[in-house]
Parts: sequence; structure tokens; C-alpha cells
Amino acid sequence: MTKVIAVANQKGGVGKTTTAVNLAASLGLYNKKVLLIDVDPQGNSTSGLGIDRRNVKNSTYTILTERISAEECIVETEFQGLSLLPSDINLAGAELEIADYPHRESILKNSVVSIKQEFDYIIIDCPPSLGVITTNALTMADTILVPIQCEYYALEGLSQLMATVRRVKRMYNPHLDIEGVLLTMYDGRLNLTQQVVAEVKKFFPKKVFATVIPRGVRLSEAPSFGMPCYYFDKKCKGTEAYLSLATEIIKKEKSNG
Ligand code: ADP
Ligand code: MG
Repeated sequence: MTKVIAVANQKGGVGKTTTAVNLAASLGLYNKKVLLIDVDPQGNSTSGLGIDRRNVKNSTYTILTERISAEECIVETEFQGLSLLPSDINLAGAELEIADYPHRESILKNSVVSIKQEFDYIIIDCPPSLGVITTNALTMADTILVPIQCEYYALEGLSQLMATVRRVKRMYNPHLDIEGVLLTMYDGRLNLTQQVVAEVKKFFPKKVFATVIPRGVRLSEAPSFGMPCYYFDKKCKGTEAYLSLATEIIKKEKSNG
């Protein structure tokens, strides 16, 4: 069975892309077959895997606007177990272009039908909005993983995000569940961090991952070298944290299934 996890939070800069790339790579390192889907027009998870968007023939934009099969869009990466559906810059216009397509919320889901079984995990890097692209991600997902930055206003916008989850559940995808809430850019020395953690746990009882992602410069440097953090520095805290997150997710799968 393939597990589809959408990494979503309409706030920008909370660690969605960093999480999507490094979680996908970590699952690959544990011998899982993983497909990372980049549906953010900024394409940071595409470039973060060393793929030059200008050389990409088909992208998630082509999938959404022309309804091509994901098979025609897939790119193999140089990282263990990891394939990619790349984004391209045109994706920024896709929300409008597909606004009146019939069944527009299911285009992504339908595009992967023929290849889904090849993968153990599909990870979707969502854009910082709650529009039709994020709806596409949530419609095909089994679960949503919500990264939350340990910062002031951490909880801001989460009510809208959860309202979107409920709407997608009601209309398109009744079994959509919450994989977990991931605390990112964590610095345990700060009082603020402790306050944020307490608030988030209150908002999402029992849904917060035991793994937290520390703030670490290696995590922010790796993308400019076009690689997940593990391939940049096997031993740093960020690498360890995302391997630990992958373990947590795999274990949960086993105990559920
Ligand atoms: P989003 O996809 O939600 O916009 P990103 O993953 O792109 O967020 O992260 C925003 C910025 O913060 C990026 O420059 C990224 O490199 C940096 N960043 C993300 N997580 C960490 C972390 N744990 N430690 C240090 N920098 C991080
Ligand atoms: Mg991003």
C-alpha cells in the first residue's frame, strides 16, 4: 500500500519544503521507494534535489493544466529511492487556469493512478496557500503533515488550515487524516519555544511528533548544493532529526497496519 502525505501549511517559511525534501530522502535511505511531488510554483524542492527547472519538459503544471499522466513527468534523482514530479514557474498561473475545469480538485490524484503502486510513500510539497493546488494535494493524500515554526504567531492560520482539511474531507476525501504536527526550527534554550510547544500541544492533542527539527545551518545550506541534508552532512543534527521523523512515520504505519 502506498501512503500519501501532504506537507501543508499556508504560512510561508515554516519548513514545508525542507521537511518534504528531507523526509522523502530519509524514507528513501530506509529502502522505501519514494515519490516527491513539488506543487509549489517556487519549485524549491525541485531545485533542492539538484533539478534545473528550465530543463524540465513536463511538470506538475502540465499535469494540472493538460491532465497528462504523472508517468510523463517523472524524473529520477541521484538520491536513493527518490523520484520527483518537478514544478515549474508557470505553476503560479495554474490556480486561475484550472479554476473552472470539471473535477479540478482530483486532477493530481488521477494523474498518478498508473504509477502509484510503484511507491511506498508519496510526499507532496504544497504551496503557501489554501487554493485549488493545495486542495488537489489534500484530495489525493492519506494524511497531512503540518510543519509549525517555533515562533511568535505559530498558531496563526491553523484554524483556517483545519477548516480546509474538514472541507476536503467532507467533499472529496473522507478518509483524510492528520499524520502529525512537526515543530521546526526548534531551539529548546528559548522560553518562547517552550511556550509555542505548549500551545501547539493544546491545539493538537496527541498529534505532535516526538521528533522536533532543530534550527541548523546545514539544513538551510544543503538546498543551494542541490541535495538533501544527509548527502551534504550525514552527521549533523538536521540529518539526524529527519531520519528520526522518517522512523517515527514508518513505525506508526506498522502499528496501524
Ligand atoms: P516553506 O517551504 O514552508 O516556505 P522552507 O522549508 O523553504 O519553508 O524554509 C524556509 C527557510 O528556512 C529556508 O531558507 C530554509 O532553508 C530555512 N529552514 C527551514 N528549516 C530550517 C531549520 N530547521 N533550520 C534552519 N533553517 C531552516
Ligand atoms: Mg516551500
